Amino acid sequence: MKKIILSILALTYFNTLALSNEVNVFSSRHYDSDIQLYEKFTSKTGIKVNVISGKDEALQKRIIEEGKNSQADLYITADAGRLGFFDSKGMFQNSMSEKIKSAVPSNFRSKNWTGIAKRARIIYYSPERVSANDLNGMTYEELANPKWKGRIVIRQSNNIYNQSLVASLISNNGKTKTAEWAKGVVANMARDAKGNDRAQILAVAAGEADLAVANTYYYALMLSGSKGAEQQAAAKKVLPFFPNQGDRGTHMNISGAGILKYAPNKDSAIKLIEFLLTKEAQQHLVNNTYEYPMIEGIEPHELIKKMGTKFKQDLTTDVASYGQYQSDALEIMLNAKWK
Ligand code: FE
Repeated sequence: MKKIILSILALTYFNTLALSNEVNVFSSRHYDSDIQLYEKFTSKTGIKVNVISGKDEALQKRIIEEGKNSQADLYITADAGRLGFFDSKGMFQNSMSEKIKSAVPSNFRSKNWTGIAKRARIIYYSPERVSANDLNGMTYEELANPKWKGRIVIRQSNNIYNQSLVASLISNNGKTKTAEWAKGVVANMARDAKGNDRAQILAVAAGEADLAVANTYYYALMLSGSKGAEQQAAAKKVLPFFPNQGDRGTHMNISGAGILKYAPNKDSAIKLIEFLLTKEAQQHLVNNTYEYPMIEGIEPHELIKKMGTKFKQDLTTDVASYGQYQSDALEIMLNAKWK
């Protein structure tokens, strides 16, 4: 009898060890470089990383449906609004370690999730048709100024990056003002909202519009040539502009991670987040994805540096507010007939 109990104990112990030696990552980030990062983590810690990749909607649905039986430890995605929305459904647990908290400024995390890299959503312009003077003091708010009538391209209201941008405006200016703003922006559009971020930059290069809104890493990606010579040439025809330098700073968003409520390997998941915030991992991230580092002391990619690194980031608007105002943002855009 004693023997049996002992062997059951040994088995349980062995199982616990085996479990804690892996971590299950559900990720909507589609970068091969992320996989290389996980491999580095495994070689350092011996913790195996199992990756389930997919679209956010599918991953979230699966995690919710599997409930307590879910094997998901870590959910990694781009956009604070997505993390905030999932958090509002009670899907994360409070698990940010002291190491994580000391690495990440408080406006780029919540108690249940944290940013691992940053991106800015900025304006691009045609230097042929827009002068430095036109852009003097330019802000997101000014995109609604009638002087830009028929000159702006931006993607659709269902896009999460736009929802987070508009949520940040609600957070700063309130719903009423943001609703007026959205109508102004729609009135200024050069065409119905369509296409991805790169398509907006291409439209300015092609002369269809004078201003575009898109995330910083897409511009660098186009300049890098990995999207082809045509997109590289187009990117060279437009210039980046960082809005709101005279007030709160440029709208920032994050790629981030949260530990799930029923994570079977919570400790390994915390270790993985902590690893992603080390200098080594951050350098790997920015070199491969053209994002901005989340921690101090890391230089972004050359192509990102060329866009200007000395700009003022919005460090006062909590990125957690993007999820909070997400449904208001969408409603405001739809009411303004933003496609
Ligand atoms: Fe993106």
